[in-house]
Amino acid sequence: MSMTETVSAPAFLPAHDPATLEPLGEFPVMDAAEVKAAVGRARRAQAAWARTSFAERREVMRTLSELVIARHEDICRFAVRDSGKTMVDAALGEVFPVLEKLRYVIANGEKDLRPEKRASGILAQKGARVEYHPLGVVGVIAPWNFPFHNLLCPTIPALFAGNGVVAKVSEHTSWSAEPYLQVIRDALVAHGHSPDLVQVVTGYGATGSALVTSGVEKVFFTGSPQNGRKVMEAASRGPIDVVLELGGKDPMIVCDDADLDHAVEQAMLGVFTACGQMCVGVERVYVFDAIYDEFVARVVAKTKALRQGAPLGDRVVDCGAMTMPRQLEILESLLADATSKGAKILVGGGRTPGMRGQFFEPTVLVDVDHSMRIIREEQFGPILSIVRVVGEEEAIALANDSEYGLGSSVFTKDRARAERIAARLRAGMTVINDYGIAYMIQSLPFGGVGISGIGRINGREGLRACCNTKAVVTDRLPLGKGVSVYPIQKTTYALVREISSLVYSQGFGARAKHAAKAAKLFVDEVRARRS
Ligand code: NAD
Repeated sequence: MSMTETVSAPAFLPAHDPATLEPLGEFPVMDAAEVKAAVGRARRAQAAWARTSFAERREVMRTLSELVIARHEDICRFAVRDSGKTMVDAALGEVFPVLEKLRYVIANGEKDLRPEKRASGILAQKGARVEYHPLGVVGVIAPWNFPFHNLLCPTIPALFAGNGVVAKVSEHTSWSAEPYLQVIRDALVAHGHSPDLVQVVTGYGATGSALVTSGVEKVFFTGSPQNGRKVMEAASRGPIDVVLELGGKDPMIVCDDADLDHAVEQAMLGVFTACGQMCVGVERVYVFDAIYDEFVARVVAKTKALRQGAPLGDRVVDCGAMTMPRQLEILESLLADATSKGAKILVGGGRTPGMRGQFFEPTVLVDVDHSMRIIREEQFGPILSIVRVVGEEEAIALANDSEYGLGSSVFTKDRARAERIAARLRAGMTVINDYGIAYMIQSLPFGGVGISGIGRINGREGLRACCNTKAVVTDRLPLGKGVSVYPIQKTTYALVREISSLVYSQGFGARAKHAAKAAKLFVDEVRARRS
């Protein structure tokens, strides 16, 4: 290539099945003009949608829920082929939370977004309330780990709050976007609403970036911390608001009095569900010295028994493939660093031998410490890393020794101990004797601290995050005119000062003194205005 030739971005992005490497098709790499056009279509549809009642929006949500149930298997199969997870992972991680979110919104959405009375303080003659209005069109930027869930999870509350949505799906899972979009559109059309209300755009990071500056009113970004920062920078040009759901490095603390069978089971689920490609996956397990050997022996035996393979093949498998080809290199590099610093691989440890697709072996790593990259960087893979701790204080200190702060968990039979440890964990969510299930409780806000993100999705907080929180002041009493200040008199400042001192002073004596002064100044003020 000569120096004068320019490299243009490819017009189409390819999609393939990560388990079989079978090509799935090509999807347009949309530019800024195409993104803007999509926002325009959603905006036109939103003008009518914003005027619908909560009852009408609930009808759409009910139909959406019924369609998800009716198309359950298709939805899971699309997720399996696009992202490599098993049908069970898809049923539990893609469909279940979406149905639960719909149930929550149908049951509670109106209550959460109903106007709320507030105290009007010293302005007793006024009524005060907060109203939750639609923002307009919101942008959703999604990662690849749960393509159905990542599209619907922000879209459902955004729609219920009266917004239009333009979603940029991941370049690694664009194949499933069209059928998933169709589920939402079918629910809208069934009740006479425009399908244009929800748009999907495809492309790489530049398409996502174009969405942030396309004129949308807010962006819900789920992805890596480094791209989250870029989104926030671009959003500052509006400025528009952002919710950032970034990565996690969730710690699990297993105390010496934990129910070991249960803790082992939850550690296995936390690490190996969707091959660890979960933001609230368990990435660090801190096990008390007294039970360390037993815990390790049990997870080793269970991990060795896991069956891996193409999820839609003839054999039933426990673990599927890695969605993103580069993730295999990341995992290899993290393991190489850890073993060079003294960690030991007891099971697995590399690409699954004899497999054509993007498979990484379920792995158990011990003698892990905080000098290793694997304990600091998000792995997003099937590696169970175990750190031995002497007790509570060390476990808490190490669990908190992370830039991330998304989920966390503690296992113990002692409730007081559980609460004591949980209160000291720096995280957006802490679960006692379980992992990650905070997400299934849709009344709870979901989000992180540190580099895990900003803002919250789910629950009342998530619905209200899709709204313009508007303050409204009304007349409570038919008083008519308010206070007149002009023309300002020589006495006016002193009168205002005495009134504020009268209202805010502590103690009867002080108030009586300011009341007397205010009364005299008021008389002077009235006289001055009459003259
Ligand atoms: P990513 O940051 O690479 O990409 C996410 C999305 O952002 C993609 O659609 C991508 O095209 C787009 N994008 C990339 N650069 C952009 C830019 N400059 N401006 C706008 N959009 C841009 O993340 P990923 O690899 O797809 O997903 C994995 C990450 O997502 C992990 O860190 C994981 O923990 C995180 N995640 C977090 C949650 C959560 O709720 N906290 C949930 C799922 C995944």
